Amino acid sequence: MSDCIGDFRRAGHQAVDWIAGYLESVRQYPVVSRVRPGELVDALPSTAPEQGEGFAAIFEDFEKLILPAVTHWNHPGFMAYFACTGSPPAILAEMLAAALNANGILWKTSPAVTELEQVTLAWLRQWLGLPEEFFGIIFDTASVSSLHAIAAARAMVAPETREAGASPDLVLYTSEQAHSSIEKGAIALGVGQRNVRKIPVDAGFRLRPELLVEAIEQDLAAGCRPFCVVATVGTTSTTSIDPVPALADIADRYGLWLHVDAAYAGAAAILPEFRWIFDGVARAHSLVVNPHKWLFTPIDLSAFYSRRPDVLRRAFSLVPEYLRSGGDPRELNYMDYGIPLGRRFRALKLWFLMRYFGREGIRRALRAHIEWAQEFARWVDADARFERVAPAPLSVVCFRYRGSDDDNLRLLEEINASGKFFLSHTALNGRIVLRLAVGNLGTARDDVREVWEMIRQAATA
Ligand code: PLP
Repeated sequence: MSDCIGDFRRAGHQAVDWIAGYLESVRQYPVVSRVRPGELVDALPSTAPEQGEGFAAIFEDFEKLILPAVTHWNHPGFMAYFACTGSPPAILAEMLAAALNANGILWKTSPAVTELEQVTLAWLRQWLGLPEEFFGIIFDTASVSSLHAIAAARAMVAPETREAGASPDLVLYTSEQAHSSIEKGAIALGVGQRNVRKIPVDAGFRLRPELLVEAIEQDLAAGCRPFCVVATVGTTSTTSIDPVPALADIADRYGLWLHVDAAYAGAAAILPEFRWIFDGVARAHSLVVNPHKWLFTPIDLSAFYSRRPDVLRRAFSLVPEYLRSGGDPRELNYMDYGIPLGRRFRALKLWFLMRYFGREGIRRALRAHIEWAQEFARWVDADARFERVAPAPLSVVCFRYRGSDDDNLRLLEEINASGKFFLSHTALNGRIVLRLAVGNLGTARDDVREVWEMIRQAATA
């Protein structure tokens, strides 16, 4: 180990310098990797080395072989999907977390892992304007957070399923614009795709409450058991915001669990002028917000909140003798509230980040992203060759060239082949639509201007 530490010290200094240089000059790389499928597999040996190698040799291959196969999510021209940032303070915290290698399976296996998670999620809850009774827990992804929400919903409405297994008559409701993770959660939990009702949306891609009521009534009349409604605040395609207050009324009326998926858009609730996106969320049973999307935290960190931790616990607590511990009322064991036993020290990066930027620093960045996306939307509106196909309440703009789907896909390919920018697409009302997402801390207004010029030129060509 001592040789290894000496090597680490030398290589570690170089690695930190490399990281700083990378972050400063990430624009020199093409955003989207240009390797062909299988190219990296073919370039690497098919068996691992018998004898150890020095960091220098490993690092050389990292630069020569691995880097070309990386798509640079930390590139300011990354405007696909939901743009995000692995920011320097959080990167530093990830290094420290790896060094500590603390595993929070129980409070006592590293009190800091549990208690910093409690503290940072309470801070975030305050920034988001959520009620104090919301219990917070970190999972890896929103997909896993929502899986826990659906499991808790089932535990509330059909507690017998913990012992008896899934019952075939439970029905979950969400919108046709909900993220696929909701349906996947229902598949994983044995609810079944057949029992996921995808409620149609209005012209602004928001779930239509009156159609939700109709669907619930039909299911009740058919002898089914409605158990869960999933609303989305910031849908994946257009960032539309479902009418949560109306959905909360319906959930109350029929005794359903209401889960709110705010994986991307939740961050905007930190801005007082955007707090409205969380109208009604205090009445939800659970909520997910992903700091690894628009809160400058390196993947992965998904914040899951619930005002019914008792139900979450009823769904998941299972304590074999070898994990029995505690007794102190302040000793929280997160394993009682979800599937994972092992817990990475993810809260450390959120803590570094929140302290380094402060609420005002975060607000400045979010406001700039929203402002530039709004400006982009106005440029689209002003060019007759393009049309905007959805409201753009936040930092994502959906638009299309007034041509065929193939024209739009060709345009997208051309922009992405430039190596300077990466946009993505979706389908709305049966047509291919392009998406521009502003969300990287390194992105400047000039980048948004430049990508728009490139899009216009590609359209002209
Ligand atoms: N929910 C929404 C609204 C999303 O947009 C996404 C991903 O983009 C997810 C959930 C899934 O997030 P994750 O990759 O953290 O599972």
